[in-house]
Amino acid sequence: MKRIYCDHTSTTPIDERVLNEMLLFLKEKYANPSSIHLQGQEVRKHVEIARKKVAELINADSHEIVFTSGGTEANNLAIKGIAFKKGKGHIITSKIEHHSVLDVLKYLEKKGFDVTYLDVDKYGLVNPDDVKKAIRDDTILITIIFASNEVGTIQPVKEISEIAREKGIPFHTDACMMVGLEKVDVKELGVDMLSLSAHKFYGPKGIGALYARKGILLESLIHGGHHEKRRRGGSENVPGIIGMGKASELAMEEIEKDRERIKELRDNLEKFILESIPDVIVVGHPEKRLYNILTVCFKYIEGESILLNLDFEGISVSSGSACTSGSLEPSHVLLAMGLPHEVAHGSIRFSFGKINNLKDVEKIKEVLPGIINKLRQMSPFWEKNK
Ligand SMILES: *Cc1c(COP(=O)(O)O)cnc(C)c1O
Repeated sequence: MKRIYCDHTSTTPIDERVLNEMLLFLKEKYANPSSIHLQGQEVRKHVEIARKKVAELINADSHEIVFTSGGTEANNLAIKGIAFKKGKGHIITSKIEHHSVLDVLKYLEKKGFDVTYLDVDKYGLVNPDDVKKAIRDDTILITIIFASNEVGTIQPVKEISEIAREKGIPFHTDACMMVGLEKVDVKELGVDMLSLSAHKFYGPKGIGALYARKGILLESLIHGGHHEKRRRGGSENVPGIIGMGKASELAMEEIEKDRERIKELRDNLEKFILESIPDVIVVGHPEKRLYNILTVCFKYIEGESILLNLDFEGISVSSGSACTSGSLEPSHVLLAMGLPHEVAHGSIRFSFGKINNLKDVEKIKEVLPGIINKLRQMSPFWEKNK
């Protein structure tokens, strides 16, 4: 059975063209870019070309790009990098961040930092006025996710960034779900730091970057050498960096081409679900939302059960609740958006990418209503409701 992959927000398949460039650096150009000999310098040249491509994707300068092991490390570096430099203070964030931001902040709270977690509205939007009101004399950092990986809502990052700049407070945004999907221009946005991850836009896993605007001083988290201008020790992940460079180049050329087609697939499924399945809620902002994500709450049933039934039909999706990690808590993002626990439990996230086509959507449409109906027939909540 050919599987249908509809989980591009978790990760994307690597682009053939990216893989091919990487192979050369796994097989032949294996030298350490820090080596002084000719082979090393040859690899160094390519690492710097890749850095330039990543920088161009977000309109940054090359020296403002620090390669990391992914989005998680980029978020850690931005937040702890500022926090450790300052030693104490207050940080502003939202309730709908990725765990690689929330868990860092929970850790910093234990170390004595103060954190304000801003509420969001029912669409998952942060109000810039709330950011302004939360600022204190000792605020050292504002960090807000750019686009939600769970519901796709896109935050008013430029407005928040202007508020931060006015007060002279560094502003970081986790843009892992934005870079490579939509045009991102750090100069126009005015952000000080921005995290990105290659495997979210058809690059390899285990490589990402932090954009840190010139003049932003960060405490290093990984010590051990002069690499990345002392901002991140360790021999460079050369194949990963090369792959991320190629993925950035392709994203720049192809963002527009894929965008409309992928959006049509998403909209097609959304329309079908709303028209043919009762008691569903599409979550996220109707317009200010990533074009490839469709998060739906199916009332009276569990997202996990829907996921497993779709899996059995050869369709890969994600559910909002984190049962897999051993907890029965529904998604913190959906709860922050005001959805009741029982509704949030029934969430499923479809996320499309360039490997999907109309046939995939037709297959999902063929099996989904039957699955929902079957599960609802078994649900005590559905009975009570009827
Ligand atoms: C995927 C993702 C991350 C983590 O990136 P990794 O490279 O997997 O560590 C962080 N934030 C958001 C919004 C993401 O979507």
